[in-house]
Amino acid sequence: MHAFNYHRAGSLAEAATLAGKGEAKLLAGGQSLVQAMKLRLASPSDLIDLGKLKELQGIKSDGKSVTIGAMTRHAEVEHSAEVKKAIPALAALAGMIGDRQVRAMGTCGGSIANSDPAADYPAAVLALNATITTNKGKYEADKFFTGLYETALKPGEIITSVSFQVPKRAAYMKFKNPASRFAIVGVFVADFGTGGSNAVRVAVTGAGPCVFRQADMEKALSAKFAPEAAAGVKQKKEGLNTDLHASAEYRAHLVTVMAKRAVEAALK
Ligand SMILES: Cc1cc2nc3c(=O)[nH]c(=O)nc-3n(C[C@H](O)[C@H](O)[C@H](O)COP(=O)(O)OP(=O)(O)OC[C@H]3O[C@@H](n4cnc5c(N)ncnc54)[C@H](O)[C@@H]3O)c2cc1C
Repeated sequence: MHAFNYHRAGSLAEAATLAGKGEAKLLAGGQSLVQAMKLRLASPSDLIDLGKLKELQGIKSDGKSVTIGAMTRHAEVEHSAEVKKAIPALAALAGMIGDRQVRAMGTCGGSIANSDPAADYPAAVLALNATITTNKGKYEADKFFTGLYETALKPGEIITSVSFQVPKRAAYMKFKNPASRFAIVGVFVADFGTGGSNAVRVAVTGAGPCVFRQADMEKALSAKFAPEAAAGVKQKKEGLNTDLHASAEYRAHLVTVMAKRAVEAALK
């Protein structure tokens, strides 16, 4: 690990000023960034710790949406009575992240800003048509994730909260890497119960360079919200990831299998 300066920001304004300098990086739970620094994949000049900022913490629900502060830990979302009541699939997703230690430290904002191709939260962001709020403005979910570890965030921009829309029913299923528990493929299915051709949103993580929506699956499930509708849609393997864990062909197969299981779970 290279040497760096450490700052514990006392306010959002101070964090923004510090984050705009040199090769500074924001530090949330450190569960991705510190690993990258240890491996020398990242060598920031300064770390701006967001841990003291109360305005980035907490969970609010108003029946239509659930808003999660960027510094809210995965374990808080997993155990939140409000999240379990409004969007049980979101609480379940948080409970599937890594292990107990990762969930005690990792944050919603950090996971979304990181845009790891195998991360779980991005699937919820896309399927639940979330709005990402930053110190500079708002992003629609569909315009936020732009590629492998890439988002629409500008350098130094700070996510403050994420608002997830409450669906009529939803579920997340992942085929996990047994060691890290990252998604080899994860599929989040959300039915908003509005009727029409865009009632259902389906987001896939782990399969491609970053999270994406499965339009054919959305169309089929909007017409008929049933496991067989998901099972009838085949994901193309072109553009999907191949690595030591799984081939693109296998990942394509898993997209259909996980989507079918997610619909079954949402109907229970
Ligand atoms: C062993 C292990 C297993 C894991 N398994 C899983 C898993 O199964 N599923 C899964 O989804 N994840 C998994 N993770 C990753 C974990 O969820 C991390 O918590 C997450 O990727 C990053 O969140 P963090 O709060 O730790 O962010 P950090 O590591 O602190 O930061 C990550 C990046 O986001 C930026 N950032 C952080 N906060 C903000 C903000 N508010 N605004 C703008 N930028 C910000 C940082 O500058 C940095 O670039 C695992 C991690 C480990 C170590």
